[in-house]
Amino acid sequence: MPRQFDVPSFYRSESVAVIKTARKLDDPRKKNVAPSVLDFGPLRIKLARHFGFCFGVENAIEIAYRVLEENPNKRVYLLSEVIHNPQVNADLVERGVRFLMQTDGTRLVDFKTLKPEDIVIVPAFGTTVELQKELSELGIDPYQYDATCPFVEKVWKRASELGKKGFSVILHGKRTHEETRATFSHSYQTAPTLIVFNMEDTEFAIDYIHGKKTREEFFERFGNSISVGFDPDSDLEKLGVVNQTTMLATETKAIAAAFRAAMIEKYGEDSIKSHYADTRDTLCYATYENQSATRSLTESGSDVALVVGGYNSSNTSHLVELCETKMPTFYIRDESEIIDRDTIRHFDLHQKQTRESTQWLPEKADGTPIEISITAGASCPDRAVDKVISRICSFFPNARPLDEALAPYRDGNN
Ligand code: SF4
Repeated sequence: MPRQFDVPSFYRSESVAVIKTARKLDDPRKKNVAPSVLDFGPLRIKLARHFGFCFGVENAIEIAYRVLEENPNKRVYLLSEVIHNPQVNADLVERGVRFLMQTDGTRLVDFKTLKPEDIVIVPAFGTTVELQKELSELGIDPYQYDATCPFVEKVWKRASELGKKGFSVILHGKRTHEETRATFSHSYQTAPTLIVFNMEDTEFAIDYIHGKKTREEFFERFGNSISVGFDPDSDLEKLGVVNQTTMLATETKAIAAAFRAAMIEKYGEDSIKSHYADTRDTLCYATYENQSATRSLTESGSDVALVVGGYNSSNTSHLVELCETKMPTFYIRDESEIIDRDTIRHFDLHQKQTRESTQWLPEKADGTPIEISITAGASCPDRAVDKVISRICSFFPNARPLDEALAPYRDGNN
């Protein structure tokens, strides 16, 4: 059971805590993923059952703030963004933290200037074996302030076990994401490793397994997504699938099922255990919960959805994708993106840029309440969601006060 962390109070929200606590008490086994509803009268806000900081993010934030507090006279570096949230990272920078690298791996500081007494915090995504070694050679212990999420480490451990048993690793992830780079690095220490981004990549690799693609075609597609020496002829005979923990869990499951089916087709059901390793236990609980809750949120229907989170956050963007299938959806970093009742600035996942849209908040001629669904990524503080709700309420002068809308959760009637 994840423990409670001492996340700084300015990330917390009293009203969100009221709702989350009531839901937890009502359903401690988290079986009911239906959204929580805040009824403001002319406005109804539907909040996903699960959203916001996960275990790994709270752990990383707690480590970062504790390190700063305990080491006022030392230089404190973060290997890269502690999590993909601009407010959290900006606040840490204001308190004196410096970043060693950008999220794409570009160095911002010459590592030769680091001293053994400097502190380097490894973020929740973890880091590569090569960087761990480089820091060690500079006299810095990369494990002393290691905020790598245990669920990411679990994936590394599983990949390593697979390699030791002679299996290759198929890593479902985005090649350039820090976590995938780290997992790839840990995986290829023992296992030939191939990164697939989506089902198209998967189908291509499976075509190769069935002899429908040439080696040239394989290397052309996967040249920069395979470990050194990867031989598709021998390294796709025995495999297991792991993932970047924030990918769509359903997509990882589909990719794993497709490889399993390919192995059965090629080697027969009786030999499946020699050719395919079951790795279902590596899926991250938080990703699964947030995605299931968002699915339930979209199924309950609304006029519009807002997804709150950093624009470079992988898990948040998957929540956006889920919402987009059912309703108009706006991906916003924080409440300041809601310019006014008519205009909203948001990140367009498909164009990969922020843009402004008008008439984001619908007018309803029939007088029924406007319904807005809200969810947030695993790196988004509850306070940010709270502020988004307040901003929306400011456009409804006749809305009930927040305290009244929260009453069912305070009174235990939710
Ligand atoms: S999403 Fe999962 S794996 Fe990633 S930091 Fe959070 S708990 Fe850890």
